[in-house]
Amino acid sequence: MNAPVLLQAPRLQSALARFPRDRAMWIDGRDDRGTGERIERFSPAHGALVTRAPRGGRADAERAIAAARRAFDDGPWPRMTASERAGVLLKTADVIDRDGDLLAHLDSLESGKPVAQARGEIEGAADIWRYAAALARTLHGESYASLGSARLGFVLREPVGVVSIITPWNFPLLIVSQKLPFALAAGCTCVVKPSEMRSASTLHLAHLLDETGLPKGACNVVTGYGPEVGAPMTTDPRVDMISFTGSTAVGRAAMAATSATLKKLSMELGGKNPQIVSADADLEAAVDACTFGAYFNAGECCNAGSRILVQREIAKDFVARLAEASRQVIVGDRLDLETKVGAIISADHLSKIEQHVAAAKGAGATLPIGGERLISEGLFMAPTIVDNVDPSMQIASDEVFGPVVSVMTFETIDDAIRLANATAYGLSASVWSRDIDTAVNVGRGVRAGTVWVNTFMDGTPELPFGGYSQSGLGRELGHSAVADYTEEKTFHVHNGPRTNWWLPRAATRN
Ligand code: NDP
Repeated sequence: MNAPVLLQAPRLQSALARFPRDRAMWIDGRDDRGTGERIERFSPAHGALVTRAPRGGRADAERAIAAARRAFDDGPWPRMTASERAGVLLKTADVIDRDGDLLAHLDSLESGKPVAQARGEIEGAADIWRYAAALARTLHGESYASLGSARLGFVLREPVGVVSIITPWNFPLLIVSQKLPFALAAGCTCVVKPSEMRSASTLHLAHLLDETGLPKGACNVVTGYGPEVGAPMTTDPRVDMISFTGSTAVGRAAMAATSATLKKLSMELGGKNPQIVSADADLEAAVDACTFGAYFNAGECCNAGSRILVQREIAKDFVARLAEASRQVIVGDRLDLETKVGAIISADHLSKIEQHVAAAKGAGATLPIGGERLISEGLFMAPTIVDNVDPSMQIASDEVFGPVVSVMTFETIDDAIRLANATAYGLSASVWSRDIDTAVNVGRGVRAGTVWVNTFMDGTPELPFGGYSQSGLGRELGHSAVADYTEEKTFHVHNGPRTNWWLPRAATRN
């Protein structure tokens, strides 16, 4: 495998010159610099300073929550018609498209992901805003005329209130777009905390929302570290709901923190997703999908197909083909349009990935390809296959979150299902088979929120996304994505003869 080539300084400088390095938080409809303390974000590929954002704290989070509360209790947003709210969401989609190139560069330079991939994510994000606008206008409750002639029942859907939205670093604009437009469509107001490593595109989004007419206070963005900004967002009694995406460990802690004030929760957490390859699969297609699933976004992806379960009789051939495909994956500079795998998010994270691989090797696994960082400058990890993994090894169940895929073998379809379900996670799975019974039976047997059959990582806003078990609570996207940000209010309406409860039955009025 060739070492990645870093682009020359002039190209990087021209990319950096496209946006202001210094960013402010967005609170109550204006830029807010907090205490003035900053977090600097350096590009993980080039080491260049990319952005500076305020290091917010409890006071900033509380100011943002107060603004969101005022905007909900007294502001126009929850009282506007669905058509008016949808109008703002549609305009937001348009300005996301307009600024797509800038947003893609922000995400790419802060994270290390290829700019071409980031561009696709921004287009996907705009599409989600449009879908949320459509749902805004179809949100409705229920009515019951079946309760007798003297009674009608209605179920109203009302916005849940103030929502804390907490997002991770791997897909900043895409993940906030799986939450914020639906919360806004329902009439909620929000406080958003992006990861401190990747806040620029979310801050830019706040300005776009201002441009498209979102009332002040309806969306606030506070930057900073989880314990300093995220924690108060989970405990404040003025917050009604938490929508969190991140690791299972932090999600659990956030959930525990909400218990004193009993908030509504939506949790999208980690995954260790199996790709199950049966002996009768279209091997070329399966190898391609497994390569993509393992290395897309440098494997820093909740949905990564990080566990390949392959039927024993084809395992040797399959691993050889996978290694050959892995060898051809272009790892390199995110600004090069040919790059498929960029840099790893941070030096700490790269070390953790290496430790996972070293532990697997120490436990007896083999490495047909990869296993090492690629060059000393820039944080690049070689696409890595860990073969001969035993289910008892840590790497069989831990989320590595890097370009590392473990391979295990199975004999029968029942074994495959057992192996697939042998982790605490349940986010997604794929099955590769030309046999309809195998595909359907595996799909029904695995405990996962999404099952792909002879495909991998397809997504569309129309279909819900989320996990079983330790991969989360609830679903995002799909037709109920706006309803998830509502409370149901039951109305009983009496329209017939009265009875007096305290009078004897015989004396009641007719
Ligand atoms: P983390 O769980 O470390 O962080 C997620 C967010 O929570 C960050 O904004 C973080 O802030 C914040 N946070 C940290 N501590 C607290 C706290 N005490 N209270 C409230 N918020 C807090 O995840 P990563 O950012 O490392 O992202 C990677 C993880 O996200 C992986 O496990 C991945 O599987 C998961 N993920 C799940 C997805 C899904 O849809 N199921 C999609 C994408 C990712 P900060 O980091 O700034 O300190």
